[in-house]
Amino acid sequence: NKLGLNEIRKRFLDFFESKEHLVRPSYPLVPQDDASLLLINAGMAPLKNYFMGKENPPKNRMATCQKCIRTGDIENVGVTSRHATFFEMLGNFSFGDYFKRESINWGWEFITKYLEIPEEKLWISVYENDDEAFEIWNKEVGISPERIVRLGKKDNFWEIGTGPCGPCSEIYFDRGEKYGCKNENCMPGCDCDRFIEFWNHVFTQFDKDENGNYNNLPKPNIDTGMGLERVACLMQDVETIFDIDTIKYILDEVVKISNVRYGSDLKKDISTRIITDHIRAVTFLVADGVLPSNEGRGYVLRRLLRRAARHGKLLGIEGAFLYKLMDSVVDVSGEAYPELVQKKDYIKKVIHVEENKFQETIDQGMDILREYLEDMKQNNTKTLSGEKAFKLYDTFGFPLDLTKEIINEEGFDIDKESFEEEMEKQRNRARNARQNEGSEGWKEDILSKIDTQITTEFIGYEVLSSCATI
Ligand code: ATP
Ligand code: MG
Ligand code: MG
Ligand code: MG
Repeated sequence: NKLGLNEIRKRFLDFFESKEHLVRPSYPLVPQDDASLLLINAGMAPLKNYFMGKENPPKNRMATCQKCIRTGDIENVGVTSRHATFFEMLGNFSFGDYFKRESINWGWEFITKYLEIPEEKLWISVYENDDEAFEIWNKEVGISPERIVRLGKKDNFWEIGTGPCGPCSEIYFDRGEKYGCKNENCMPGCDCDRFIEFWNHVFTQFDKDENGNYNNLPKPNIDTGMGLERVACLMQDVETIFDIDTIKYILDEVVKISNVRYGSDLKKDISTRIITDHIRAVTFLVADGVLPSNEGRGYVLRRLLRRAARHGKLLGIEGAFLYKLMDSVVDVSGEAYPELVQKKDYIKKVIHVEENKFQETIDQGMDILREYLEDMKQNNTKTLSGEKAFKLYDTFGFPLDLTKEIINEEGFDIDKESFEEEMEKQRNRARNARQNEGSEGWKEDILSKIDTQITTEFIGYEVLSSCATI
């Protein structure tokens, strides 16, 4: 049953509409009136106020397909079969209306009857002491106890900062031993690509406050999240989410531009997948009004765009290319997300300008780096001094990881110790400069900005990750 991604989305929303849910289009990626969150990372996030009783929902049953960004998963993108920074989350929600019983039974009905996913491939997880959920799965749905695993807080208790939270129950698809890992106890919850978690049912019964207390919500809620790309991957029986109909279409465009055959070299495949993922994220972020900058959401956007551009370089792509690639994103997602079509020219312009800006930085840095490499070859040395690496990065804004990758390819390395020393010196300089400026507010402000800019560049990915954890 090889349904396309766009068809699966439609079926999901139709199904829950038939169960009297109000179907709403995705909310923007930029949270509205929610300072606690940088970017929407789950279907429930824009509905938080309904869950907390701060606002009345238009209906106590809703269903959406929500655009999500999770930069915390960036290291996994292209490496695992199932992680993206941008993805769509299908969700059905109950605001104090139905609870575990309906959520579980409808969930099962949808995937086994409507999507016709074979029951024998499915496994269930519940929170370790959630006997109620276990009983429903076992006695009502008829899942044998060996197929229901009890997992701890890390996997099966859902909370994101403060706010509504609770135990959850996940549905997994077993792709068989060929996707398994070496772990003898490989089972749902294992980090490998065999048991794919694809639907999480959260039984929101608590409200976590700033002091870490779990307060009972007056009426328990349901919040479920199913990764659309993941279900498509399982249903289309392809290896990764990058091989599903819509995303493969974008990936094929990357391959056309790079001229690097997909499937010939793992490292290059990862770069190809990273570009494919990041151009989706970038396109949707710009469509929702985010502009590249050095802080907040704009910084997330800038890093994603530059990371994609950088991987383009690693594939040997010359010149700007991301602005062309966004067309394919619009092709496959434009119908479901009309804002992409409406703002197409604008999105393209924003991407192109930012790409060119980065291109200048890269070109300049490459020239300098080539000189350094020549010097090293002539002097028979295998390490690039920390001083030089730092200068490239600090003075010329050339990404450190790019320096690393390029010189590693030549069999060279960066002198990490002296690089660290330079970093430390720079931190001290910034610190002293701030102190010397005294109390003149605005100067201090500018300098502290420069300082964080430097440190955030250095720890780039970690900062990007922490953006996601809210
Ligand atoms: P995982 O353990 O695989 O990282 P998760 O437990 O973090 O997933 P949830 O927070 O439960 O994910 O989100 C609900 C659903 O959203 C998941 O079951 C999955 O189908 C999907 N999902 C989560 N993260 C991603 C991602 N980075 N890319 C694509 N789909 C995702
Ligand atoms: Mg995760
Ligand atoms: Mg999980
Ligand atoms: Mg989960």
